[in-house]
Order: sequence, then structure tokens, then C-alpha cells
Amino acid sequence: MQDLSSLWDAVLSKLELTVSNVSFVMWFRPLKVVDFVDNKKLILAANSASAKNQISRNYFDKLSKSVDDIFGENIEIEVLDPTEEIEYIKLHGEKTKEKEIEVTKNPFNAKYTFENFVVGKSNQFVYAASRAVAEHPGEKFNPLFIYGGVGLGKTHLLHAIGNFLKESNPNLNVLYCTCEQFANDYIESLGSAPSEKSKAVLQFRTKYRNLDVLMVDDIQFISKKTSTQEEFFYTFNELYQNNKQIIITSDRPPKDIETLTDRLRSRFTSGLIQDIQSPDLETKIAILRKKCQIEKYHIDDDAIDYIAEHINTNIRELEGMLSKVYFLASLSNKHTATKEDVIEAFNGQIEEEKNEGLTADDIIREVCKYFDITRADIVGKKKSKEVVEPRMIAIYLITEILEMPLISIGKIFGGRDHSTIGHSRDKVADELKTSHKMQTFISEIKKMLKSG
Ligand code: ADP
Ligand code: MG
Repeated sequence: MQDLSSLWDAVLSKLELTVSNVSFVMWFRPLKVVDFVDNKKLILAANSASAKNQISRNYFDKLSKSVDDIFGENIEIEVLDPTEEIEYIKLHGEKTKEKEIEVTKNPFNAKYTFENFVVGKSNQFVYAASRAVAEHPGEKFNPLFIYGGVGLGKTHLLHAIGNFLKESNPNLNVLYCTCEQFANDYIESLGSAPSEKSKAVLQFRTKYRNLDVLMVDDIQFISKKTSTQEEFFYTFNELYQNNKQIIITSDRPPKDIETLTDRLRSRFTSGLIQDIQSPDLETKIAILRKKCQIEKYHIDDDAIDYIAEHINTNIRELEGMLSKVYFLASLSNKHTATKEDVIEAFNGQIEEEKNEGLTADDIIREVCKYFDITRADIVGKKKSKEVVEPRMIAIYLITEILEMPLISIGKIFGGRDHSTIGHSRDKVADELKTSHKMQTFISEIKKMLKSG
């Protein structure tokens, strides 16, 4: 359940990305939500008749797309002008104030579909297996265990399966969760007050055991906590015995997940284990082109080739670089981004000689200077935002510039686990795609490093 106004805010923030600033301020920001009828029809009011006309004539597709993204598919939209609004309220009363809505939203990312997944040598088998499972859940490969490095498309494939099933088989009960969500959900149910506990555990079990398809992302984070593993074991068995489909991803094969109990390991190995490899150059180029098409980026071929050649494996990084390049080109009002923009976006990363002699300590020192914090703070345990963000940025820069193994970086940062380090790096890499603030941080610190 969510309240209407926060959902509407989410719609606005989507719209803001797709229309010009002027149109956003003129037409969209003043829109009011008047009613949401039967969880199906959204009634909006514009602040003038001409605003209503503008929206209906020129922006209706964009509006309805953003609404669908947030509210779920096929929401009907009606835009009223002020007179109509008064009429409507006279007839139906003011509805929206305390309205809570059951969001029937498709929980899967609309962009992560099979259609948007570029198939090449590195991922053709995992693609085929995922498709087969989506087309015949519970019948083909069960469980399907997908493993491969960070940013190679595991999460994308899970969402693609989910999206496919929502279309083809809307009545199926499909759940996607990360391993952490599963664990937290379980631990939370255990933590309920004694009188509530059995009810909470029962609720947990009803949620996870009455599924047709369960997808668990990043199972390598399954904790050593035997109780969570045990619960997962029983969940697994229950579903498996009823021919329900289970799909699991991990950054490594079952045999290399140290914390896994033998009986879970043997369950995971009983179906199909399929790896996903790093893309070759052609696939990288195809992915970048596809991404440009989806995001409507104008980036010329030379620039795309250059990105593909200079980023080795991680597709998330490829995409991050692409949006950065596009952002830089848009700053200088260029219609199409070129190789020059790419070189600027790489910002010295390619000329590796310049980084010679640079150590992790140099990077940590500059980051501390930049954010005005101490070394002890940055490598220590503090969890306040003022320290956590610089820490993640330092970790990101060290992995980027020095290509140091995550384990060694973990040691520098007070003995943190390598997966924690990987998480920090990915978080920054992700933010870099969209956050101008983060783009500025990174490029300014890099400048300091170069000149220092
Ligand atoms: P993982 O879960 O393996 O770390 P993701 O699924 O999050 O990786 O993928 C990272 C990014 O790369 C996503 O934006 C995803 O859409 C994109 N991506 C990965 N593989 C492909 C592919 N084959 N075609 C198109 N995009 C891809
Ligand atoms: Mg993932």
C-alpha cells in the first residue's frame, strides 16, 4: 500500500526526465490528482484550459508512460480543466485526501526484457535457458542456477523472466527477491513479539512457499546464519517438490560459495548451472547501440567503438560511460556525442601512464582532503553519511584507477569483506550513471590526483 501523493511524486520525477524543463514547470508540476477510481482510472486537474489542451495534445504519451511505470500497466488517465474539476468534485466529493491504493504495479523493471537483452557468444546459453524457463516454468531446468561476474546481466535476465511471465501468464505467483531481502524478511518475522511470532513466521512462509516462481538474486550473500539457510532449504524443497520454478543467481558457482551448507549446495547443483561470461567486442558494441536506441542517445559509431574497446568486461560500466558521454555532449549542446566526448569522459583513465606511481594511500588522502574528513574516519567503522559516501568514492577510485583486488582493498579499509568493497564500488558506478553530483565528485577528485 502506498499513498497517492507519493506515487504521484514518483510519476512527476519520471516525467521531469522526459520533457523539457519549461514544459515540466508549465504543464506538469501544477497538475493535481483529483481521484483514482477503482485503482484503474487516474483523474488529474490542470491549472488552466490551455494546460489541459497542451497535455492532452502533445504530452499524453509521455504522461501515460510515466504513470504506467509507477502505477502499473494500463491505467486510464483523464485530464480536467478547472471548470471540469469543480464539476467533478461536486459530483464525487474530494476523494484523494486519505486514499491508499493497492498498487498492482508490475515489480519488474520495464527495461530489463528479453527484447532488450543482446545475445552474443558470452551469454547465448544462459539466454536460451532463461527463455526456456520463462516459457515453461517448473518444467525444464529446475532449479536454474546462473552465475557470472558483476554487471554481466544476471539481474537483467531475472527481470526479463519476470516481465515475460507477467505478460504470458499473469495469474502465476512470481516473486523476485535478493538474497538479503529473503534473509531480512525471515529475521524480521523471528523478531516479532512472542505473541505475534508464530503468526509472523506463518506469514513469511505463506509468502515464500505459495509461489509458482521464486527468483533469488545474488545468493552468494546468504549468510552463515544457519537458521536463514535452513529456512531457505525448506522453502526450496517445498517449491521444488511441487514442481515450482526456482531461479538463483550468484557471482560464483555453488561449489565456490564458502558459506553454503552441503545440502543446499547439492540442491543448487541438481538442476542446470549456467554461467554468463564477459562480452566480446562485437557484443559490447551491440549492447551500446541497443542502449542508445532505448535511451534515445545520439552517439556516433566511432565513439561507441572507442568505449567498447576501452572498457573490458563490466556492462554496467559500459552503460555508465555511455550516459556520462551523453551528458557531457549535452552540456555543450551537441546533438551527437563524438569520440572527443568519450575521451573527455574517460578523463585520464585511459592514459594509464599518468597514474603510475599512484597508490591507494594517495587516493585516500585526496578523497579525505576533498571531503574534509580524516583518514581514520574513512577507513574506520563510522556509518554517518558524511563518512560513508567519501569511503565508497575512495573505494571506487581505487578499483578504477589501480585495479587492485577487492580483498586487498578490504584490508586497507579496516578488514572489510571483499563483497562489501564490491558493493561500494558498484553503488558509486551506478550513481555515476545518473547523478551529476557524483559525476562532479569523481571528476574533480581525479583532477586533483592528476595534478597532485
Ligand atoms: P548483474 O546482475 O550480473 O551484476 P545486471 O543485470 O545488473 O548485472 O546488468 C548490468 C547492466 O548491464 C544492466 O543495465 C543490464 O541491462 C545491462 N546488460 C547486461 N547484459 C546485457 C545484455 N546482454 N544486453 C543488454 N544489456 C545488458
Ligand atoms: Mg545483479
